[in-house]
Amino acid sequence: MTPDSIRSLINRRRVDLQETAGYPIERLAEIIREVGFSCDCCTRCCTADFNGHVFLLDKDAAKIRTLEPAGLVPAPGYEFCDQHGMFYVSGYSLRTRPDGTCIFLLNDRCRIYADRPEICRVYPYMLHREPDDAGVLDWRQISGLDEHGTYHDKISDDESLTIARMTKEYELSFLSQEIAFLEFILEYFERQGLRHVKRVYDLRMRDFHKGHSIDVYVWNGHGLELNAVGKKVSGTGAG
Ligand code: SF4
Ligand code: SF4
Repeated sequence: MTPDSIRSLINRRRVDLQETAGYPIERLAEIIREVGFSCDCCTRCCTADFNGHVFLLDKDAAKIRTLEPAGLVPAPGYEFCDQHGMFYVSGYSLRTRPDGTCIFLLNDRCRIYADRPEICRVYPYMLHREPDDAGVLDWRQISGLDEHGTYHDKISDDESLTIARMTKEYELSFLSQEIAFLEFILEYFERQGLRHVKRVYDLRMRDFHKGHSIDVYVWNGHGLELNAVGKKVSGTGAG
């Protein structure tokens, strides 16, 4: 990825941010009421099998660090790898056990419920665009629709508005974090004479999957933190 392609990615994310900010809160609340989702506490969203990984906002990562530092792992799907084989990613995610369950899930309960990350509070609600089967981008408001929970429950106007506000706030924070990371990387790569090299990325990942460790710089909202990631101690694919 060249500096120009990073710039165009930043511009696309800024447009996403603007359009998400402009999405009417009442429309989102109305969809939430119409769907009437109710959680049946199956805990599947706390597993990698169902949800991949739990990406953390900077403020959530800071909170998890105070509760249990080992609960943080660089979020899988690193965005960049420079010519020296150093990886870069825009944030942390929650560590999972070898069976894929979040390390904070205990006896089918979240043991940090009062301090759980924002994404755990808003899930399964979301507000971003994804392509449909025909590749057409459209807004999505409920993750895993009809795959979990129950539907057509009564949700009051107040409750739906509260959920809608929290969901929108989460999405705006997520996009702002991604933009801040990309802006930092653009400037950092230029200053340090670095560039993203796809071939090095693929070679290092191949070594990683064979059991070698890799170094990953993780964006923490202010700068980059170095993490050594070994496949044998991985959380959600990287830990
Ligand atoms: S922090 Fe709690 S709610 Fe979030 S994934 Fe882990 S166990 Fe589930
Ligand atoms: S949000 Fe969905 S997946 Fe998570 S516990 Fe509730 S019903 Fe299960």
